Amino acid sequence: MAKEHTDVLLIGGGVMSVTLASLISRLDPSRTITLVEQASQLATESSDAWNNAGTGHAGYCELNYTPTNADGTVSIDRALAINERFEVSLQFWCSLVEKGLLPEPARFIRNVPHFSWVQGADHCRYLRHRHVALQDHPLFGAMEFSEQAATLADWLPLISRNRSVFEPAAATRVAHGSDVNFGALTRLLGRSLARQDQCRVHLGTQVCDIRRDKAGWELTLRDTATSATQVLTCSFLFVGAGGASLPLLQRAGVREARGYGGFPVSGLWLACNDDQLASEHNAKVYSQAPVGAPPMSVPHLDTRFIDGKAALLFGPFAGFTTRFLKHGSRLDLPASVRPHNLRPLLDVAAGNWPLT
Ligand SMILES: Cc1cc2nc3c(=O)[nH]c(=O)nc-3n(C[C@H](O)[C@H](O)[C@H](O)COP(=O)(O)OP(=O)(O)OC[C@H]3O[C@@H](n4cnc5c(N)ncnc54)[C@H](O)[C@@H]3O)c2cc1C
Repeated sequence: MAKEHTDVLLIGGGVMSVTLASLISRLDPSRTITLVEQASQLATESSDAWNNAGTGHAGYCELNYTPTNADGTVSIDRALAINERFEVSLQFWCSLVEKGLLPEPARFIRNVPHFSWVQGADHCRYLRHRHVALQDHPLFGAMEFSEQAATLADWLPLISRNRSVFEPAAATRVAHGSDVNFGALTRLLGRSLARQDQCRVHLGTQVCDIRRDKAGWELTLRDTATSATQVLTCSFLFVGAGGASLPLLQRAGVREARGYGGFPVSGLWLACNDDQLASEHNAKVYSQAPVGAPPMSVPHLDTRFIDGKAALLFGPFAGFTTRFLKHGSRLDLPASVRPHNLRPLLDVAAGNWPLT
């Protein structure tokens, strides 16, 4: 029996797969595209609005993108590269809105100013140097800097009012920063894909096996409701399975997966839905993590717009689980251990344990 064939197959219905599928469908509408998601809807894992901070990462507020060089100057290359990439994302979403493939932008992106906020003389000096290094670049020309208590209280009333330690403080502001609801964006892009003749979106369908064949890849799909299986072939395969990508790559026998392990440190938030407090803070505020600390430990206080309602998120705090996905199995981590990834896994565990 002839197996069903698709040119491009994307595993996972998060923001990565729907974005790639949308790009391919625009660049070459002659390609058939199939996107497969095991859950009953798109974006139920990391891309869900409550599972990330929704920052449109543009390098405006993230201090870990602008480290201090050995000579005391501030390196801005990474912030510039990230900003350019985010600008391309904005242009891509704009083009889809203009073509009627995405609805009005307020359904997935809002203007929320981006701030970096620091305390202590050394951090204030660093922030001033960072501002000087960035402000001449056209992409960062709108960035403002202040060490004045009155300006900081005006910009960030909630943070300024509740400070218990009165050290010198400083902040930068980029008024045109953004809050992105990646969950809503993913579902809107998925809906748009499903309306195109050359695209198929299969929900409730799990990829359970991958094999390389002469012309490309052969996949076994399982209907999660009926357990019925189906075999599909494709020429190009994208594994956008988030945390569950590693077991799929191991199953496919992809050589490059050797030596990689998954160490599932999750991000947990304190969420505040109090309307009064939310109305006093309209900002994404990123502060300074200790030198050498991973990006995960950068503390931030974020305005979020989810389901049309403003909320505040504070965190992230690290959690540890042996599941690779929120809806995964406790056996994910032990089942992924191989002789070749045991050493890297133990190294990562030792290095990251203090985070939790
Ligand atoms: C605490 C935290 C804060 C973050 N904050 C931000 C932020 O502010 N801004 C930002 O840009 N990013 C942020 N991120 C990162 C961002 O959320 C992720 O990079 C992004 O959502 C990853 O999308 P994805 O499509 O790769 O994975 P996911 O959204 O996890 O999607 C993977 C999908 O694959 C499916 N799947 C898995 N296995 C199979 C299978 N075998 N068959 C079929 N389907 C399968 C899953 O069900 C899931 O739906 C944050 C992440 C964390 C943890």
